[in-house]
Amino acid sequence: MLEIRQIACLQDNYGFLIRCSETGEVASIDTPDANALIAEAGRAGWSIGHIWNTHHHWDHTGGNSDIAQHYGAEITAPAAEADKIGAVQHKVKPADRVTLGALTAEVIDTGGHTLGHIAYWFESEAVLFSGDALFALGCGRLFEGTPGQAQAGLARLRSLPDETLVYCAHEYTAANARFALDIDPDNAALKTYAAEVETARKAGQATVPFALGREKHTNPFLRWDDAALRQRLGLEGASDAHVYAAVRKAKDNF
Ligand code: ZN
Ligand code: FE
Repeated sequence: MLEIRQIACLQDNYGFLIRCSETGEVASIDTPDANALIAEAGRAGWSIGHIWNTHHHWDHTGGNSDIAQHYGAEITAPAAEADKIGAVQHKVKPADRVTLGALTAEVIDTGGHTLGHIAYWFESEAVLFSGDALFALGCGRLFEGTPGQAQAGLARLRSLPDETLVYCAHEYTAANARFALDIDPDNAALKTYAAEVETARKAGQATVPFALGREKHTNPFLRWDDAALRQRLGLEGASDAHVYAAVRKAKDNF
């Protein structure tokens, strides 16, 4: 029902065109590069009627106006960031539902990277568009929100089914894997994953999308309640948000 085309854009971004195969409606999840997305839509014979933004950063919204002009596309974006994004027709809030033809996605609050950051979850398709909130083996930097806010958003994402395929907005996995191995060196599942990532990247392959179930066991930003990780950080009795914050700080200084 949900067709997805993934387009490498800019330095390390991914853009996504998604289509409801029943009605033919198409949305662009963020707009890192209008020309690249319009070219891909042309190859597919798709017309981009909708833009769904995850947050206000330029590498996610920079193509909004060109794509909106080219197709008359309508923009859906977090209400909390609508003023920064501009020309937003559909301002959405956490727990809202947005439709693409016959398909429905839930808006999930993943504030922290930016205050109003949202993810789009297609439960029926087991697909999540996580923007810069969750990456393979990593997560977005905490630019605007608090650790507690970011950790709450990641906790919600972690609660989604293991089979969920995550489409994040950046190919950062190889660098994320190096940090993950540094902070969680005895994690056998992580070692296997990191080796696969290295092989894939050497072959020029994308590591996105990725399965959420595997992240739950390997991504240090989803492992705030792991006893070994807590012990390593000297944070056995700390709050979940505190453990998340310590991992985030360690990554920022890595
Ligand atoms: Zn961003
Ligand atoms: Fe980004």
